[in-house]
Amino acid sequence: MRAVVYEAFQERPAVTAVPDPSPRPDAVVIRVGASGVCRSDWHGWMGHDPDIRLPHVPGHELAGEVVAVGRDVSRWRAGDRVTLPFVCGCGACRECAAGEQQVCDHQFQPGFTHWGSFAEYVAIHAADGNLVRVPAAMDFVTAASLGCRFATSFRALVHQAELRSGEWIAVHGCGGVGLSAILIARALGASVVAVDIDEAKLRMAAALGASVALNARDIPDLVRAVKDHTGGGAHVSIDALGHPTTCFNSVQCLRKRGRHVQVGLLLAGERHPPIPMDAVIAGELRILGSHGMQAHAYPEMLRMIESGALEPGRLVGRRVTLDESVDALVSMGEFAGVGVTVVDRFG
Ligand SMILES: [Zn+2]
Ligand SMILES: [Zn+2]
Repeated sequence: MRAVVYEAFQERPAVTAVPDPSPRPDAVVIRVGASGVCRSDWHGWMGHDPDIRLPHVPGHELAGEVVAVGRDVSRWRAGDRVTLPFVCGCGACRECAAGEQQVCDHQFQPGFTHWGSFAEYVAIHAADGNLVRVPAAMDFVTAASLGCRFATSFRALVHQAELRSGEWIAVHGCGGVGLSAILIARALGASVVAVDIDEAKLRMAAALGASVALNARDIPDLVRAVKDHTGGGAHVSIDALGHPTTCFNSVQCLRKRGRHVQVGLLLAGERHPPIPMDAVIAGELRILGSHGMQAHAYPEMLRMIESGALEPGRLVGRRVTLDESVDALVSMGEFAGVGVTVVDRFG
C-alpha cells in the first residue's frame, strides 16, 4: 500500500510503498476513506510524542470501510462503514471495564502508538470496543472530521464542563478544537466569546456563531475584556490551543464557580504551565481535563448531527491527496489555514 512514512523526526516524510497490514485476532483492517490532518500529527512528527517508534505513519482522524476482520472480532464484518476515536481502549483494563476508554491504561492510538491512517489501509486493535458505525447519510470526510477535535470538544463541553443553555463560554484558540467548541456550544444554547490572534480564524468563529471575537494581539488586558463581555466572567472556558498563555487566560477569565477545560495539548517544555491557583481557590473554580471520547458515547453526538443541530461539515476546509498531505502536515506548525484539512484520495 501507499503510506506517508517518516524515518526521522523533523525530516520531510515521503509517500512510500509499504506492506499491507493484516489483522491480528482482535483487530480489523480498514480501507481508509478519509483522514484528517491535525496539529497532533505535527507534534508527533516534531518528536514531541514519546509513544512514536520510527519509522512511522501518522494519521488518527479516520473513517473508512472494513476490509478484513480478525477471528475474535464479533461485532464487525467486511463492508461496514466505520470511524473511531483517536484514543482507543485495550478492552481489558480497569478503565475500559468502567467505560472510560478515553483514559485506558494501555491505549491504542493509530498514528501514535501504532501506524496510522495517512495510508491506504490501517489496522485497528480491540475493534469490537473501539469502532463506531458511520450513519448511512454521512460521508467519510465528515466522519473523519469527528474523530479527534470534534469528539474531544463534544466530550469537553457536554460531559466534562456540562455547559448549559444560557451560559457564556470563552474559547481560547480557534483551530479545529476551538471552532468545533463554538458549533457545539451554539447547539447547546450557550453564548461564545472567541479568542485568537488570527483575523481569518476570528471571522470563521463569528460566522459559526460566536457573539464576540477578540484578537488577543490587539487587546492589552484580554482577561478584563472577556469578563466585560460576559457580565463578570465566563461560566465555562476552554483552552483549545494548548499554550501556557491560553491556559492561564482560560482559568483567569472565569466567573466564580466557573469550569476550565484543558483540551489543547501542552507538550515538550510546556507540560507544566503556570495556573492562577489564587483565583482557583478564591472563586472555587473547577479545572477539568478532556482526552478524546469513548466510542460508546458517539451515538448522542451522531444523533445531534443527523438531526441537523450540529453541522461538523462546516469545519472542513481543504481536501487533499495523500501526496499533498505531506505539505499539509509539515506546515501545521505555522497555524496555516482555517478549518480542517482532510485527505480523501489515497491511490
Ligand atoms: Zn487530531
Ligand atoms: Zn483499557
